[in-house]
Amino acid sequence: MRLRKSARIQQLGSAIFAEMEQWKEEVRQQGMDIIDLGIGSPDLPPSAQVMDAMGKAVADPGNYGYPTSSGGLGFRAAVSRWYEYRFGVNLDPETEVLTLMGSQDGLAHLAMALADPGDMAIVPDPGYPIYHASLVLAGVTPWIMPLRAENDFLPMLDAIPTDIAQRAKFILCNYPSNPLSAVANPEFFEKLVRFAREHELLVVHDIAYSELAFDGYEPTSILQVDGAKEVAVEFHSLSKSYNMAGCRLAYMVGNAETVQALGELKSNIDYGVFEAIQQAGIVALEEDRQGTGPKVAGIYQRRRDVLIHGLRDAGWDIPTPKATMFLWAPIPKGWTSRQISREILYSTGVVVIPGDAFGKEGEGYVRIALVREEEVLKDVVTRLGRFIAEQKTKGRW
Ligand SMILES: *Cc1c(COP(=O)(O)O)cnc(C)c1O
Repeated sequence: MRLRKSARIQQLGSAIFAEMEQWKEEVRQQGMDIIDLGIGSPDLPPSAQVMDAMGKAVADPGNYGYPTSSGGLGFRAAVSRWYEYRFGVNLDPETEVLTLMGSQDGLAHLAMALADPGDMAIVPDPGYPIYHASLVLAGVTPWIMPLRAENDFLPMLDAIPTDIAQRAKFILCNYPSNPLSAVANPEFFEKLVRFAREHELLVVHDIAYSELAFDGYEPTSILQVDGAKEVAVEFHSLSKSYNMAGCRLAYMVGNAETVQALGELKSNIDYGVFEAIQQAGIVALEEDRQGTGPKVAGIYQRRRDVLIHGLRDAGWDIPTPKATMFLWAPIPKGWTSRQISREILYSTGVVVIPGDAFGKEGEGYVRIALVREEEVLKDVVTRLGRFIAEQKTKGRW
């Protein structure tokens, strides 16, 4: 058999994650206790009511037929009520809400639904890996938009050449952002909507972390901008807000033509999310809306403080994020992101992700996920404190 992997797969850029798995395996074989702050998967369970609703729905024999690809109206209506409550945004559940098997599903397929091979789309660097990967899968040419600390990790829209803006089918943004933990204010979203109108392209906004915000900060939706629905869609997920990452439940809202196009593509690919999961999702959204659900943001805020304060005392000054479950930590001069991530893992057992895993602009940083309890993070501070002290004696910090 002359089987080989497609060129597409080879361009996906998952090599660095595979390499890290090897590092971890080696360290594990040396008998070291690993603390994995690499993965972005919440370590907490959903609320008891959510799990209970799922259990009941699982026991209902009526829930085992094929669901519909676009999602039941019950779940889409719950999404619409939640958007109204949280952002004051009115959405028609029939035409402006599409249920997804995780945002990953929608983000992976969107380029295929909206663009043809040879078309162009604008994506951020650093960025969540699926943004770039989805373009590779669709044969769409990426135009890379660098996000840099000196501009608060917001894109310089004025620096995008006019011909690129005219040619691109969509521009993708993500605030609060993974891996940068950067946030955007309403003025930025207004500017982005103006930019989209001017160049007649779609804005795709990923707002997966809107509910993981700290110190009273409340992220806003791009759909709060007047007329945004004409030019924008937003992806939101139950994975992070309600600790339901394993359920694979998310949605895209906003521009009806885009909802229709992605829905049409997906109806050829999948038959939707298991009804029991949608039932659990409705409970999670309703609990949140009624203020009876668990507040996960506070837990991440305390974890953030343990690491930020502890590491600052040890000599690693990391900016305090206003949101998300990540620290985007600048590394000392003289190291590459990969070198220091490897060295930290081999000498302390702590897993962090080299920033360049999210694009070449991520060089000079590592991402640390707040996915273990405070006690474990105190241990991380101790281990990294020893590492930093040792590097200082060698003049490497
Ligand atoms: C975790 C995450 C999501 C959510 O993905 P799901 O497929 O819904 O679990 C979306 N966007 C970003 C940037 C994320 O980090």
